[in-house]
Amino acid sequence: MEFESQQLTMEEKLENKRKKLNQRKKKKKKEKQYKLLSYEELPEYMKENEYIRNYYRAEWPIKNALLSLFSWHNETLNIWTHLLGFFAFLGLTLVHLSHHVPEVADFLGHLTWSISTNAVENVSSNLGTFFVEAVAFIKLPVSLQADADVVESALPAAAAAARWPFFVFLGGSMFCLLSSSACHLLCCHSRRLSLFLLRMDYVGIAVMIVTSFFPPVYYIFQCDPHWRATYLVAISAMGFVTVFTLLSPQLSTGKFRAYRAMLFSGMGLFGLVPAAHAAVLNWGDPRRGVTMAYEAAMAAAYLTGTVFYVTRVPERWKPGWFDLAGHSHQIFHVFVIAGAAAHYGAAVIFLQWRDQVGCEQSVHTL
Ligand SMILES: [Zn+2]
Repeated sequence: MEFESQQLTMEEKLENKRKKLNQRKKKKKKEKQYKLLSYEELPEYMKENEYIRNYYRAEWPIKNALLSLFSWHNETLNIWTHLLGFFAFLGLTLVHLSHHVPEVADFLGHLTWSISTNAVENVSSNLGTFFVEAVAFIKLPVSLQADADVVESALPAAAAAARWPFFVFLGGSMFCLLSSSACHLLCCHSRRLSLFLLRMDYVGIAVMIVTSFFPPVYYIFQCDPHWRATYLVAISAMGFVTVFTLLSPQLSTGKFRAYRAMLFSGMGLFGLVPAAHAAVLNWGDPRRGVTMAYEAAMAAAYLTGTVFYVTRVPERWKPGWFDLAGHSHQIFHVFVIAGAAAHYGAAVIFLQWRDQVGCEQSVHTL
């Protein structure tokens, strides 16, 4: 009897051991599934840049892909460069809105406080007034805004310029930076999602280029509605054509990298037309030099970034050396942020200039 029970416990022990071993094997298999891969191990649709040799994520579940925001792989810096850029632009948007919409100023103030119960109770009514005020503010040649405590309104009273083109640019930049971050974070999930996100990324780039045209074209040609509309419609049409061309899945592959760069650069270079026109108009303002310098810095940043994007320098010189940090796409991202920042600088000056110089004071009109 005793012997039997001893045998039983022996068997139970063996069974337990077997179970544990199996569990360990399964766990290992699971871990292995989400290990970082080399270029050769990738599914065909992910083979995009053969000079980046290792640290790829492939076919990861969404949850693991989302969590990989906080771990090292070859997309980590691509995600963070544009995510931080997005938050910087979001901050700028809130700061500009707060000059005009008291609820945003309150919100920024509250960020440093703990939220009081009272504030929570008031949220719904505050949100209501916030939207009404925000819409009124963004919509309009803000003659109602004479009492606003902004720098520009302290200047002699030409009717303040419309704000919406400035916010269109900020919104377009945020959309581009966010869709790019999402693409770099989640494209590793599946072929279907990667195709969708790559398209969103291209739409984002086109939107950023088109919306970048709004502040300079709107404020420079404020007094020439005909030219203002012509340029804005032309660049928007180019944006649509570019996006529709890039909807073909084939054009998302590595082979067409230079072709994509050409389409986007073409849109950017279209800016030379209104720029030359503006120079001919010769609006006699001393700030013209400063805005030109900002816009030249923007063009230089975008072009340099594009050169890195197309040539895949430096990783082509030392494949495998720049997998985690320093490869061309990360450098391209940094130049995109620099270009957008320079353009933001120019847009602020255009806006301030138009607040002071209304159409009746403008020397040259067509
Ligand atoms: Zn990117």
